[in-house]
Amino acid sequence: MDDKPRPANCPKCGGSRVATILYGLIPESAVEPLSEKYGSISFGGCCVGEGDPEWSCPDCRHRWGSMHFPDLDLPEDDGDLIDFD
Ligand SMILES: [Zn+2]
Repeated sequence: MDDKPRPANCPKCGGSRVATILYGLIPESAVEPLSEKYGSISFGGCCVGEGDPEWSCPDCRHRWGSMHFPDLDLPEDDGDLIDFD
């Protein structure tokens, strides 16, 4: 998981309890360690896509940010398989 710094304040209401939105199926046992790491977390559901929000504000429910997955920018044409000879 990438450790992009969390914004200090909500851009909408200025609240300082910004939560990191986590995606994926997270086992209950992982919630506590994740909370310790991120301070405040929010769950975005099991699927995440390019452009989904990264942060949420528990005070005004505003969500913002934009997920980006540089590693998933796969070429359109996968061409020939790599030849290891
Ligand atoms: Zn807010």
